[in-house]
Amino acid sequence: MSFSNLGLSAELLHAIQDSGYTTPTPIQQKAIPAVLTGRDLLAAAQTGTGKTAGFTLPILQRLAQTSYSRNRPVRALILTPTRELAAQVGESVLKYGTHQQPRLKSEVVFGGVKINPQMMRLRGGVDILTATPGRLLDLINQNAVRLDKVEILVLDEADRMLDMGFIKDIRKILALLPKQRQNLLFSATFSAEIRKLTEGLLIKPVTVEVAAENATADTIDQIVYTVNKTAKTALLTHLVKTKNWQQVLVFTSTKHGANKLTEKLNTAEIKAAAIHGNKSQGARTSALAGFKAGEIRVLVATDVAARGIDIAHLPFVVNYELPRSSSDYVHRIGRTGRAGKMGQAISLVSQDEQPALKLVEKLIGSKINREQISGF
Ligand code: AMP
Repeated sequence: MSFSNLGLSAELLHAIQDSGYTTPTPIQQKAIPAVLTGRDLLAAAQTGTGKTAGFTLPILQRLAQTSYSRNRPVRALILTPTRELAAQVGESVLKYGTHQQPRLKSEVVFGGVKINPQMMRLRGGVDILTATPGRLLDLINQNAVRLDKVEILVLDEADRMLDMGFIKDIRKILALLPKQRQNLLFSATFSAEIRKLTEGLLIKPVTVEVAAENATADTIDQIVYTVNKTAKTALLTHLVKTKNWQQVLVFTSTKHGANKLTEKLNTAEIKAAAIHGNKSQGARTSALAGFKAGEIRVLVATDVAARGIDIAHLPFVVNYELPRSSSDYVHRIGRTGRAGKMGQAISLVSQDEQPALKLVEKLIGSKINREQISGF
């Protein structure tokens, strides 16, 4: 299977070639032709499957085929749960659209930064808008953008948007869109709430599943270390040092916990940085850049902040604490074991977390190997 069989234009194939991709991923093979026909799409896919190209490529093609009016109303709207993911989607749109003539205009808007520059950027009109729901509503309220010409709507990581409490905002946004449009929904997990949302939204969707529902990739080696709560930091330090881990993403359940752990790792001479909602966008961006470049060995993150982070070959993910919701476990460990490379997902589990561990195992449908390190 090659990209040239999917019905994409020469300009888009050129950009794909620039990216160095040779073979479309399973989700791309299925989603691209479906989206090109104008059908609605329901895709079970998490980050790392190539889903972003799976929707940005056919959107670029479809929009290039229809003409736009002079004031350039938004014709494709992509909603994402976090600023990081929004930024990454925006980068993909730019990258894949680079050889199109004329070029489509794309903008990304999210909260946590000043709204005025975003209003300015939207002024000349934009074809493709990627946004987090709250900031988009703010911009609509300020009359900075209108959605009455949207042809294609994407809900990216819909499960995560619902987990983050965006359902009301999403419903408000949906009410502003034209009835006649194409809808694409991506979600890693399918709760009752997601199913309810899709029922009212999608019309005879093409369904694409790249992995069994709520399953974890078989390229991820999962291990549980049973450990006393008080010994977790010492165990993590021990593992990083003795196993010589060079790039580790660690999840904690609180911002405070992320800060504390980061401090302790740095004291132990393991270069670490934290990213969470209380950090400025600049601090997050530089921590992530340092981590990608190998200058920061351990990145400590909360679930929300880590959403959408895309690191090509991340070898290790650690759950310093198990997440509150089991579906977050699937999201977290999906950061590793991507693109056919093996990854390890390590959970440090104390006695009081045993019930949470059982729930995780029930969700993924298998038992995770337990190991113990002497002294911990
Ligand atoms: P995504 O699931 O969209 O976050 O993409 C995960 C990663 O896979 C990104 O770094 C993409 O650049 C990369 N990627 C997407 N499509 C392909 C492909 N066909 N071949 C190789 N890498 C890809």
